[in-house]
Amino acid sequence: AVRENVLRISGLKVAYGGIQAVKGIDLEVNKGELITLIGANGAGKTTTLKAITGTLPNCRVEGHIDYAGEAIKGVGSFDLVKKKLAMVPEGRGVFTRMSIHENLLMGAYTRDDKAGIDADIDKWFAVFPRLKERAAQMAGTLSGGEQQMLAMARALMSHPKLLLLDEPSMGLSPIMVEKIFEVVRTVSAEGVTILLVEQNAKLALQAAHRGYVMDSGLITMSGAGADMLNDPRVKEAYLGEG
Ligand code: ATP
Repeated sequence: AVRENVLRISGLKVAYGGIQAVKGIDLEVNKGELITLIGANGAGKTTTLKAITGTLPNCRVEGHIDYAGEAIKGVGSFDLVKKKLAMVPEGRGVFTRMSIHENLLMGAYTRDDKAGIDADIDKWFAVFPRLKERAAQMAGTLSGGEQQMLAMARALMSHPKLLLLDEPSMGLSPIMVEKIFEVVRTVSAEGVTILLVEQNAKLALQAAHRGYVMDSGLITMSGAGADMLNDPRVKEAYLGEG
């Protein structure tokens, strides 16, 4: 089958003033893939995601970023949402002063199929019963893990063509981490294309079709998730084994 490319990054460089955070990377996500980008603190993973969404004010961004066959450097966030590119940022970014139900509706603001939107809300309430129990509660009153669930559900309400997830497991209890990864795998199995940035390399590589390792602004390794899990270099540096 011919692979349909959803995201293609080539020669991406990002500098914060004098600090070169991303030093020329290539990365590709094909339709239906779950791709993970792993690496240590400060490797440049979040910066890479922000370059895709164009949320790096006052930074020099060089190279090419193509999404759905179109160059998207300089396209604003509002237009990216209309183009069905959704991002769940690190730290979640839910609307804390809106209810859980309102947050989900906001996620669907580019849609106008009321019945479909209601059906999706019901679907997410079934996946995350805790959100249903708290539907009318302000999102800011949720725990970190619950906010992560809401942020993911809200992003998926837009029916994204590409979902960018920045460290969804960060700061969560092991049970919550399991739940989040279960949802990521399910959503991927339903056909959503995902780029997942994670520090939990083991779970990320177990879930992903392919992975990239980022170190000091460069991609140092890439390959099938299963192969990378068995790579001695990955084991030693990122899985705490070997
Ligand atoms: P983490 O997992 O800790 O979030 P990361 O791989 O996502 O790490 P980035 O957040 O992309 O890494 O950071 C890459 C480098 O860029 C780091 O050295 C960081 O200090 C620097 N950096 C990030 N944001 C800024 C900023 N706004 N101004 C200056 N330097 C920054």
